[in-house]
Amino acid sequence: MFVDETRIIAQAGDGGNGCISFRREKYEAFGGPNGGDGGKGGDVILEGTNNENNLIKYRFQQHWNAEKGQHGMGSDRIGKCGKDSILLVPLGTIVMDNQTDQVLAEILEVGQRVRLLKGGNGGWGNTKFKSSVNRAPRRSNPGDPGEKGEFKLVLKSIADVGLVGYPNAGKSTLTNMITNARPKMAPYPFTTLHPGIGVIEYPDRYERLQMADIPGIIEGASENRGLGHRFLRHIERCFVLTFIIDMSGIDERSPWDDYSQLVAELGAYDKSLLDKPRIVLANKMDEESSEKNLKEFRKRHDVVVQPISCLTEEGIPEYKEVLWEKVAEAKASEKEAEIVESESANDDSESH
Ligand code: GDP
Ligand code: MG
Repeated sequence: MFVDETRIIAQAGDGGNGCISFRREKYEAFGGPNGGDGGKGGDVILEGTNNENNLIKYRFQQHWNAEKGQHGMGSDRIGKCGKDSILLVPLGTIVMDNQTDQVLAEILEVGQRVRLLKGGNGGWGNTKFKSSVNRAPRRSNPGDPGEKGEFKLVLKSIADVGLVGYPNAGKSTLTNMITNARPKMAPYPFTTLHPGIGVIEYPDRYERLQMADIPGIIEGASENRGLGHRFLRHIERCFVLTFIIDMSGIDERSPWDDYSQLVAELGAYDKSLLDKPRIVLANKMDEESSEKNLKEFRKRHDVVVQPISCLTEEGIPEYKEVLWEKVAEAKASEKEAEIVESESANDDSESH
């Protein structure tokens, strides 16, 4: 089971109470106060990790409590701080307030930490209340309560390229061929039930790209039909989209309609997906009918189409190259946009 959305209920630890205590020694009847402070309660913290790729852990365990701080003790002993509760989440996890859906944080890097809930501070022991007028205070503070909250965790994968296509177009086969991921393949729709992310290696330049195989987009996916809708969010962050079309037209499909419908589905879900750089692959070129269909496709759609075959590996190295260039271009232009944005922000502050 792949889980990309779940709810958690969490509580940070309460602070420990301060202690009331007095020194008692053999020849000293009224020793001064010596009650220690309570320890701080543990925080609830999210931390990014590469070792998880979904949120299933939080489906099975929804309650997460950090430890309480220990109470203060006599002889000025301070209570131990409660242990933090650290929730490891995959990169691309977004935390939202469960009620308002307000986005609180995004985890994008390994080791990145976000404190969701703060543990309560420990209370003061009576030592802290000693003063020139009250040398034997019978007073201490209780610890503060730890914060509580309910959150929604949503995963939007971060891959460089998203692979979209109708069921059976060959997404899993292509993913298998060029990445280290091993998705199931089968000659029937919906064998891929969750987005698989694989790494494409470019050994000659010591580089790699991540590719997400987005399962089963069908007509109506953007309106939550079929399985597609849940998975579309995983391509929101990709730099480049690859459309893979079954050019053989077997299964009584027409490749050009497949393409129009894919574009329509993505646009209906989120128009900005159509602004992303796009590579269109004509797959199954080893089939007899494919050559003729490709000609027809090019007549009907004014896009660059690259013929490939996952069976004969025709066109695969070329695809990897084009993909590399497109991703690099998209990353560069995104960086540029960020710089322009931050410069214009600076201008704003100067003009005030
Ligand atoms: P997905 O649903 O898009 O992930 O499709 P799959 O990768 O599971 O492939 C569906 C079927 O098409 C499988 O039986 C594959 O073996 C077959 N297939 C994939 N690529 C090619 C290809 O280039 N040529 C031919 N002839 N069959 C292919
Ligand atoms: Mg598949």
